[in-house]
Amino acid sequence: MKTYAEIIVNSDVLDIDKPFTYEVTEEFKDHIRQGQLVKVPFGVRNTLTDGFVLGLKYEDDIKGMRIKKVKKISFIEPVLTSDDLSLIEFLRDTYLCKYIDAIRLLIPQGILKGTKNKSKKVIIWIKDIQDKNKEEKYGEILNYIKANDGKFTKSELTKEKNLSLYKINKLIEEEYLGCQEEIVYRYNIREYKAYGEKKLTDEQFMAIEQIKASKNNLYLLKGVTGSGKTEVYMKLVEETIKNGNSAIVLVPEIALTPQMIERFKGRFGKEVALFHSRLSEGERHDEWHRVHDGNAKLIVGARSALFLPARNLGLIIIDEEHENTYKSEQNPKYQTREVAEFLSRLKGCKVIFGSATPSIESYYRAISGEMKLIELNKRVDKKPMPKMQIVDMRNELKSGNMSIFSKELYNSVNEALKNKEQIILFLNRRGFSTFVSCRGCGYVFKCPNCDISMTYHKNGFLVCHYCGKTEKQPKICPKCESKYVKFFGSGTQKVQDEVVKYFPSARVLRMDVDTTRGKNAHENIYNSFKNGEGDILIGTQMISKGLDFPNVTLVGIIAADISINIPDYRSAEKTFQIITQVGGRAGRGEKEGKVIIQTYTPDYYGLIYAKNYDYEGFYNEEFALRGLMGYPPFGKLLLINGSSKNEEQLKVFMKNLAIELKKINNEYTYINMLGPVPCIITKIKDSYRWQILFKGELPQEFCKKIKDRLYEFNKNVYNEIRVSIDINPNNLT
Ligand code: ADP
Ligand code: ZN
Ligand code: ZN
Repeated sequence: MKTYAEIIVNSDVLDIDKPFTYEVTEEFKDHIRQGQLVKVPFGVRNTLTDGFVLGLKYEDDIKGMRIKKVKKISFIEPVLTSDDLSLIEFLRDTYLCKYIDAIRLLIPQGILKGTKNKSKKVIIWIKDIQDKNKEEKYGEILNYIKANDGKFTKSELTKEKNLSLYKINKLIEEEYLGCQEEIVYRYNIREYKAYGEKKLTDEQFMAIEQIKASKNNLYLLKGVTGSGKTEVYMKLVEETIKNGNSAIVLVPEIALTPQMIERFKGRFGKEVALFHSRLSEGERHDEWHRVHDGNAKLIVGARSALFLPARNLGLIIIDEEHENTYKSEQNPKYQTREVAEFLSRLKGCKVIFGSATPSIESYYRAISGEMKLIELNKRVDKKPMPKMQIVDMRNELKSGNMSIFSKELYNSVNEALKNKEQIILFLNRRGFSTFVSCRGCGYVFKCPNCDISMTYHKNGFLVCHYCGKTEKQPKICPKCESKYVKFFGSGTQKVQDEVVKYFPSARVLRMDVDTTRGKNAHENIYNSFKNGEGDILIGTQMISKGLDFPNVTLVGIIAADISINIPDYRSAEKTFQIITQVGGRAGRGEKEGKVIIQTYTPDYYGLIYAKNYDYEGFYNEEFALRGLMGYPPFGKLLLINGSSKNEEQLKVFMKNLAIELKKINNEYTYINMLGPVPCIITKIKDSYRWQILFKGELPQEFCKKIKDRLYEFNKNVYNEIRVSIDINPNNLT
């Protein structure tokens, strides 16, 4: 009998997703284990490459194949635990990714590369001086070091603390002091202002008690904006750590949530590991180790933090669970919520999904009993919710007001400025304002098959990017016959110009992709506004997340129509969420808040329900619509994207691929196949883009067949055409 290892090779050359069999020679036989990182020869040149041991098998000589041998075991301790391997299988099955994509999510590059810990030599105390004379001469310095045992290096003691180098050396020589290697962590050591504990409100208290007492593992914490969800999270985290477990708190985007970091660092201090995509490789390596070694029990981070090797994971919190950023757009294209649930089953930990505006999927699961619903219905200190007002922009046009501000918004801004209060003006730039609408009556051109807005093309055609339906753009409105049928669009720069023109005395700050490119740009703008250095903050969805500025009394939503008409089946949900979230920035301090929503479609259900704070009403209507159209949570979407520099070749490839996939589709008549069509963004970085979409209940076995056929079909043109698969994609652009 011989020992063989099934190994996943860490190589980008591969377009195949399978383990390779390697022989384990005598030398390694007793040491090799599942999950280890090893070195194996790979490719025609037998380049020494990293590999992961997926499993071992014991057989007589495997015949007929040229079997290569494992060359080295990199670390004795496995880098992947058996839980990790289960997670990897889950990611492969659910998101149709490759082994290596999943492994790379769990193991940072720095670990693979063997990035070294940074260390320094600190001075430690060994023993006290007994000799009276010596004590007189050296006592003071020894006692200082004893009090700061292991804290400083020799050079820190002499240069910064001004202690005598001669004396320290003498004490080391006579073994009163010693040197010791200490790991220095390359992590955020910034000091944060302490964020004190609050006396819980009754609602907060009840929520925490319910979660503590219940045997459930999944919770939806639905709390209105300003209800103090963070305080609930913190109490639960505290409890978890007290019980010797660790906790993960996920936020939608770390750079956009300075406040969350401030609060958690301010309460839990060094115990917190921060993890997100802006870390350097060294920082990432160190935070990974800090968590792995049990030195950081609380992780705060963006979605990738979920994959850190937390010890005894007891709690996962997903704040603003409805946010788009929880869906990864790189392989594996996972949905964080689903992975958290899987981890909960695997490790038995609790998961809290928090939001003022839960995703339709999560709320559906909560009311159908799959998660426990916990609600916070009041703001802290019984502060009233801001008053919402919808302004019909069609009337503004009729009365001759051509500016982007309605009379109502114009007056309210002036009023707030006069009272020295702050104002947020919000303009949605998510997606693409490529729709065509009538300014006279608000009519929007939509695809009758897919119920999403059609996209304008320069040649004067309207195209549905779900199913490909194309028609010529009418010159007059089919509803009211007005000639004001136009392409819709406005940018933050334009809003800023108008603000300067209409409110010349106001100090204006702007937060969008253009003004936040620098490393701390976002935080600087946030701090300026917080410190009252601006009267008006103009921003995109960046400003909708979790900001708590007490002096903001007015929020103006410049054009709700943009989010209503993004070509996405979730546009109503996104509109409802963004209005509620952005509106929730108003009136968080002493003074009452007001929200003005400008739109050409004032009767749109997403707006009306948001205005009335009627989540349930919105949910019921939206849920019914989803059912009618077969969109999630009633079914799934599977998106296949193809891209290539060669447009003609891509087109032919996608058409032939579609014929192949149609054959599979024919065995599953209840699944809809849409396309192939060009994507909404037809070209990115010189690459043309096409897509095919499947919609309906998609059994795993169907998805697997599609995946296998796709990769098989792509094999011969791997270098010319890139393909990808996405389950329930964020957007279909
Ligand atoms: P949410 O995330 O639910 O919108 P936050 O957690 O930001 O709300 O809380 C809103 C505000 O209320 C914050 O300024 C917070 O410090 C404050 N707060 C939260 N809980 C309490 C409490 N129990 N007592 C006093 N203030 C509180
Ligand atoms: Zn019209
Ligand atoms: Zn369509």
